[in-house]
Amino acid sequence: MKLDDLGNWRRTHKCREITEQLDGQEVIVMGRVGDIRDLGGIKFFILHDISGSIQITASRKKTDPETLSKMDALTQESSVAVRGKVVKARQAPRGVEVVPSEIRILNLAATPLPLDPGGKVKANLDTRLDARGLDLRRAEAIAIFKIRNQALKTIRDYLLSQGFIEVQTPKIVATATESGAALFPISYFDREAFLSQSPQLYKEVLTGAFDRVFEVGPIFRAEEHDTPRHLNEATSIDIEAAYLTAGDVMEILEELIWRAFDSVKRNCAEELRILNHRLEMPEKPFPRITYDEAIEKLNAAGININWGEDLSTPAERKLAEIIGGAYFIVDWPLALKPFYTLPKGDKLGDAFDLMYRELELASGGSRIHSEEMLVKQMKEKGLNPENFESHLLSYRYGLPPHAGFGLGLDRLTMVLTGAENIRECVLFPRDRRRLTP
Ligand code: ATP
Ligand code: MG
Repeated sequence: MKLDDLGNWRRTHKCREITEQLDGQEVIVMGRVGDIRDLGGIKFFILHDISGSIQITASRKKTDPETLSKMDALTQESSVAVRGKVVKARQAPRGVEVVPSEIRILNLAATPLPLDPGGKVKANLDTRLDARGLDLRRAEAIAIFKIRNQALKTIRDYLLSQGFIEVQTPKIVATATESGAALFPISYFDREAFLSQSPQLYKEVLTGAFDRVFEVGPIFRAEEHDTPRHLNEATSIDIEAAYLTAGDVMEILEELIWRAFDSVKRNCAEELRILNHRLEMPEKPFPRITYDEAIEKLNAAGININWGEDLSTPAERKLAEIIGGAYFIVDWPLALKPFYTLPKGDKLGDAFDLMYRELELASGGSRIHSEEMLVKQMKEKGLNPENFESHLLSYRYGLPPHAGFGLGLDRLTMVLTGAENIRECVLFPRDRRRLTP
């Protein structure tokens, strides 16, 4: 079939803007075709755009043959433009419909579809991710990404209002920053390089010039685990600020999380309804418990953790049962935190994790700003300071004391949308088995 050109047609209205007030008016709407129904004498289809949907209705008797034959040729998910008249119609889903005078079929979708974006037939996650471009047309998927977008906008606005400057640091790097997580090696001309695990070292250096910086960008982790909360490429919201401590950036983080919840609750009521998710506002201030208190509570609850051990998944689940909601775990054993963590006394680091129930949302803390101490701690962690030579150079010229955190945007989106798998919250997730689409 020959397709039509868009030509000089442009939308006069989005679907949601077609209301009874426009009764009798001529409009042009564009979008994708949803449900198609044929009652013999009358043919309908639902047109969807990002704003919503509108019913297009043509009676066989009153519609010209060309428009009718186009109505007959339509398949679900095709892209179309419709010029027509708005008509009040009690039977239509929104009490109003468009009666077409001309239809342009801009692209025709193949049949059968690999999945039903209308959501009537449920597909499993793998099938959906294989056809992600189509899967993202589902109302639930659109709702997730609208919520993610709303949260990110709120966070960005807040950080900008607090004097943070948004930066972009290199993603091709020479060394590791998070000793725990593995690196993806890449070939960089005749040398080996890596994909960046976090903007940590760069953002620390930048506090010397810009005082407060933040970055929203990808982090790459060659972790082999297959869990509902880990991906090999994730998006992190990283901040770093001069002349502040862990306690100060915890307050910034708390405010930013609270505002993200609040703005999603106020601006995304329809999306939350589509996802059937009741978002409970966390109460400020979030509880702060020390690592010592956490293991005390766990040991009392029958989960044995020796001092110095990391909290296992069952331990995190138990803590979530005991404390619930959003809470901070502070004052970690230094050995469990990265080399750049500022020590607090002999054995502790001035570092924190922000948890939401059993999910770690963010990690942060006060950082070392003395070159000597940084070198000492690198050695203690089995890292070779020679590999960090260019980074250490910036410590020689009066780098200010500073603190910051990394907050996982994909994990925050899980919490805000009620998604149980992080893959739902990322457009094209990268995991152990998935590199396409
Ligand atoms: P976890 O213990 O859950 O594996 P982590 O402590 O290794 O996380 P950090 O290095 O502290 O992670 O990174 C800061 C934040 O970035 C985390 O709190 C999390 O929200 C997010 N993040 C880290 N790794 C991943 C990942 N593989 N997939 C998704 N998000 C991640
Ligand atoms: Mg962490």
